[in-house]
Amino acid sequence: MTRVILKPHKARPFYARHPWVLDSAIERIEGDAIDGGVVDLISEKGKFVARGLLNSQSRIRVRLYTWDAAESLDDSFWRRQLEKAVQFRRQLGYDDPRGAARLVFSEGDGLSGLIVDRYADYLAVQANALAMGVRLPLIVSSLVELCGARGVVLRTERGINRAEGLELRDGHYCGQTPDGPLEIVENGLRYSVDPAEGQKTGFYLDQRENRKIAAGYLRERRVLDMFCYSGGFSLAASVLGGAKEIVAVDSSAKALALAEANAQLNRATNIRFQCGDGFETLESLAAAGERFDAVILDPPKFARSRRAVQEALQAYHWLNRLALAVLEPGGILVTCSCSGLVTREDFLYMLVGMARQTRRDIQILDTRGASPDHPVMCSCPESEYLKCFICRVL
Ligand code: SAH
Repeated sequence: MTRVILKPHKARPFYARHPWVLDSAIERIEGDAIDGGVVDLISEKGKFVARGLLNSQSRIRVRLYTWDAAESLDDSFWRRQLEKAVQFRRQLGYDDPRGAARLVFSEGDGLSGLIVDRYADYLAVQANALAMGVRLPLIVSSLVELCGARGVVLRTERGINRAEGLELRDGHYCGQTPDGPLEIVENGLRYSVDPAEGQKTGFYLDQRENRKIAAGYLRERRVLDMFCYSGGFSLAASVLGGAKEIVAVDSSAKALALAEANAQLNRATNIRFQCGDGFETLESLAAAGERFDAVILDPPKFARSRRAVQEALQAYHWLNRLALAVLEPGGILVTCSCSGLVTREDFLYMLVGMARQTRRDIQILDTRGASPDHPVMCSCPESEYLKCFICRVL
C-alpha cells in the first residue's frame, strides 16, 4: 500500500475527518504514486489516519474516503457508498419517479468529487476529481442498477479538467438520450430541464424547499424574481403562492426561453419575463418608480476565490440595497447567496450593514440552506454554500 506521510502537527484536520489533504500537509510519499490510486494517510508518528485516493496533479493531493483501517476502497466500497446515498433520498421522500433529486453530493455524502443528479429517468453525473473520473464505469453502472435510469449524461464543472488533470467531455455517457426536453415535477410543478446543456446539471435542485417556503409568503403580492433562470421561484410564487403578478429577470435569453416554456407548462399567465443584467434592471426599475411587495434575489456565485470574498460582499451589499429601493414597506425579501466562501455570518452582517445604511428595519423570518439532498458534512464546512434568508423589510 502506498503511504502518504504527513508533516509534523498536520494530522489534526484529518483525524477530525476533513477529506482534503493538500500538498502543504504532506512530508513524503512512500511507494508507487499512481494518480487515482489508493493510499494510506499516515501521521508523522507512523499511525494510520485515513485511506484515500491520490492525485499528484491536483491541489487536493489526497481525497479521503474512510477512517477505518479495516475498510478497503474496492468496488464494493463504492457500490455501498452509492447505495447509502440513494437510499437516503428515498427516506427523504425524494423518490417520485417523475421528480428530481441530487442523489450524491460530493463531500456531503462522503464521496468527495462526485455529484449525481436524477431527473426523472435520467442521471447527470459530474466527476470533479480524477479519482472519481477514472472510476466512472463502475460508478455509473452501480447507479443505473440502483435507480433503473434510462440514460446518463456527463457534465463537467468549468476548469475542473485542468485543476484535476482530467480529460472528460460533456455529453451523452450511456443508455438512451431523451427524445426532446426532459420534464420533471417539483413541488407539484412541471419544469422542463436540459441536463446536457442547461446551467449546473440543468436545474437548481438546491432551492427546492426554499421555493416552496418562500411561496408561502407571497400571496397577493407583486413579486420581482431576479436571476430567475428557468423560473423556479416565479412558478412557485404564481401557482403555489398565489402571487398577484411576477416580473422575472435573467441575463440569459436561453434561460428565459426555458422559463417561458415552463410558465406555459403550468398555465401560469401572470409572469412577465425580462432579459437584462440584474443590477442594471434593478437600477432602472427603481428610477422608473416601480415598486414591488416582494423581491427574490438568487444571483450566481460572486466569490470564486478567497481573495474575491470582500468584493463579493460588496456586490451582495449593492444588490440587496437596490432591491430595498424597489421594495414597499412591509415587503418580503428573499435573498440568497451560493458563494461557499461567503459565510452565513458574513451574509447576515451584510444585511445588518444594509439596515443601518438604509435606516429600514429588516426582520429575518427564516434562515435557510440547501435542500436536504445537499447535506452539509460537519467535518467539511466547505460543503455548506447556500444561504437563503427570508426577510420582511419595514
Ligand atoms: N433562481 C433560479 C436560479 C438562479 S441561478 C432558480 O430557482 O432556478 C443564477 C441565474 O443568474 C442564472 O440563470 C444566470 O443566467 C443569471 N445571471 C448571471 N449573471 C447575471 C446578471 N448579471 N444579471 C442577471 N442575471 C444573471
